[in-house]
Amino acid sequence: MKIAFIGLGNMGSGMALNLLRAGHEVRGFDLSEAAQKFHADQGIHIATSAAEAADGAQVVVTMLPASTHVQALLLGTAEHPGLLERLPTGTLVIDSSTIAADTARTVGKAAAARGIDFLDAPVSGGTAGAAAGTLTFMIGGTAEALERARPLLETMGKNLFHAGASGAGQTAKICNNMLLGILMIGTSEALSLGMANGLDAKVLSEIMRRSSGGNWALEVYNPVPGVQEASAATRGYTGGFGTDLMLKDLGLALENAITAKAATPLGALARSLYAAHSLGGHGGQDFSSIIELLQK
Ligand code: NAD
Repeated sequence: MKIAFIGLGNMGSGMALNLLRAGHEVRGFDLSEAAQKFHADQGIHIATSAAEAADGAQVVVTMLPASTHVQALLLGTAEHPGLLERLPTGTLVIDSSTIAADTARTVGKAAAARGIDFLDAPVSGGTAGAAAGTLTFMIGGTAEALERARPLLETMGKNLFHAGASGAGQTAKICNNMLLGILMIGTSEALSLGMANGLDAKVLSEIMRRSSGGNWALEVYNPVPGVQEASAATRGYTGGFGTDLMLKDLGLALENAITAKAATPLGALARSLYAAHSLGGHGGQDFSSIIELLQK
């Protein structure tokens, strides 16, 4: 298949490379020159714009930071027409960024009006899951569009969930990430308490991982440097899931909770703590660096 992949960052990189390895013709675009060069060296044809990457593509995949980026690219701005206007009827567009469910529904509607299949398909599994092709996809859109996308999604992930109609994938994703944001703070708190009492972080992590406090952070994303070889913490909190991206997701959850009149007290507190951490200059670091806020 001819696939355009827009957004070759921490997550998009592994996803696009897995599509390439599966034998697809992947044409990529990213604003970052470093990302362009790296992926050109890996065999991805780098286009000069998103529009050029999408020319002649049967499928367009987007993996961008936030709602504004997806909206500007697909629906356009005052200065630039959106990509949806250029794509022929029958194109499949898969957005795997984490964005507002409302934005996903708006884009989905605009796509449907032009005969384009659109899926919101945000992911979970981190950069390791993106590289290994083991992501979990939470999908919103029609069952027909999902069946069209299935072979490609199965190349990039191992769990596909149809959450419901357009926007439902994004709603599932912010529920999950609100829980993850809270769990990372709770895990950091417990580890800091143990370390303040002289416990070895590795020993305590293993005890809690195998006890009732066990969770994903302890399994694969330990916030203490050196406990796990492959963790973002051990890499100096680089190359994982940025604090500012977690802050964005908790903001989406909070906005949604206000509209739904849902009580999310820990989600609201977690958002404030990540905001304080970001204001302290850590917005670009991996979100597990929140442990430093609790220790300093
Ligand atoms: P990232 O910042 O590493 O990558 C985003 C890329 O998009 C950057 O390389 C940037 O240059 C590029 N970009 C921005 N605007 C662009 C445009 N108009 N055209 C082309 N390229 C553009 O972010 P990431 O960690 O890869 O996350 C991407 C999305 O996936 C976010 O919505 C995030 O919330 C979500 N997500 C991230 C993780 C993770 O562990 N990093 C996990 C699950 C979901």
